[in-house]
Amino acid sequence: MEQSEKFPKRFNHQDTEKKWYTRWEEAGVFTAQPESPKKPFSIVIPPPNVTGTLHIGHALNNTLQDILVRYKRMDGYDVLWLPGTDHAGIATENVVEKELLKKGIKKRNLGREKFIEEVWKWKEEKGGRIIYQLKRLGASCDWTRERFTMDEGLSRAVLEAFTRLYQKGLVYRGDYIINWCPRCHTALSDLEVEQSETQGKLYYIRYPFKERDGFITVATTRPETMLGDTAVAFHPEDERYKGLEGETIVLPLLGRRMPFISDKFVDPRFGTGAVKITPAHDFNDFLVAQRHDLPVVKVIDENAIITREGGPYAGLTREEAREKVVEDLKKEGLLEKEEDYTILLGRCYRCKTVVEPLLSKQWFVKTEPLARPAIEAVKTGRIRIVPSMWNSSYFHWMENIRDWCISRQIWWGHRIPVWFCDSCGAENVGKDKPEKCNRCGSEKLHPETDVLDTWFSSALWPFSTLGWPEETP
Ligand SMILES: [Zn+2]
Ligand SMILES: [Zn+2]
Repeated sequence: MEQSEKFPKRFNHQDTEKKWYTRWEEAGVFTAQPESPKKPFSIVIPPPNVTGTLHIGHALNNTLQDILVRYKRMDGYDVLWLPGTDHAGIATENVVEKELLKKGIKKRNLGREKFIEEVWKWKEEKGGRIIYQLKRLGASCDWTRERFTMDEGLSRAVLEAFTRLYQKGLVYRGDYIINWCPRCHTALSDLEVEQSETQGKLYYIRYPFKERDGFITVATTRPETMLGDTAVAFHPEDERYKGLEGETIVLPLLGRRMPFISDKFVDPRFGTGAVKITPAHDFNDFLVAQRHDLPVVKVIDENAIITREGGPYAGLTREEAREKVVEDLKKEGLLEKEEDYTILLGRCYRCKTVVEPLLSKQWFVKTEPLARPAIEAVKTGRIRIVPSMWNSSYFHWMENIRDWCISRQIWWGHRIPVWFCDSCGAENVGKDKPEKCNRCGSEKLHPETDVLDTWFSSALWPFSTLGWPEETP
């Protein structure tokens, strides 16, 4: 039989898909018509990171969205499927940093402005990859409304949201313990820290009493942090330590005097039931210190180097300090034993450096008052979680929520709209640079250098892409 020229032997998806997609686009069939009398149906794409290329998970979730919007179009709705990409702060900064390094250019030598220019250049060249892929998948997005989290409108929305939250007292700046990447030099959210089980050691260290004979043995997986201890704690119902509360303890190696306290957070089954309290370098200990009004001593700095507070260990890396501390404890007969122990080690999700819990000045969103209406909405059925078995996880999460650290010490992102006064120290918050300090009238102002966590803008995405804070159809 003769092969027809018009009908190829094999289906050629390359040509066929391209031909039809182009025709659909040119005919404008994906473009929403908000003025039409049809009922609206909208999906906002969860914005993929501009850095990457789409993976099989994107292919799946975008196909599902495409099925829904195509079905609704045929069912007589006016459909908007709004596409766009996320600027992915740390991820993008790292990619561009690496690209520049290949050319022998260091980010810090380049300076902030020039570096940002490079990121935009990179975004223009490489950022289109995802859009191309979505089109090749056949995604019927309204490309006339494509958005980017760093575009002008969205950036305005971000500054507006920050300013409003600040004015309502829901954004504040404070000293708080955060996850810190000593290589990327930035705070990280819990989601940006990858936890993995690692073989480590549990060290049992003897802390002598000052006024009486004997000692308390504490167990720790990070002996170097003992340099920052300001107390030892036990559980109030732990019989082993009854009657010893309030005794003074002498910190080995440094000689710091500190109290023996009781606090319900201590797990009596861990180690000896007595734990060292290192407020500047442990999340739980920080909270214990607030409850008991303990001093906070920062012994590890932003480069993961021991600070002056670490006495003879100052200047060592945290790894060197661990070795030296253990060695010195052995010499003084204060190391009771070491055991193999599986520890949960947190690493930066971008560069895999071991994350350091660090006390640091950062910006936070007060989450508790914001969680309340979110809890209410699910309780009253205004929002329904499908399947409903996830309700309990949702409530558990929302009821135990911690304040959200929104500042990042990187350059790529929305800069926090705050100007500090050099004369009186006031925080001046606003979408535009103020002429003078609103407290003392001084004209000497310097801007905050931190940028906002990428999720601060991603969270606004469903609103900002449709024009918020303007009221739009
Ligand atoms: Zn890192
Ligand atoms: Zn001032």
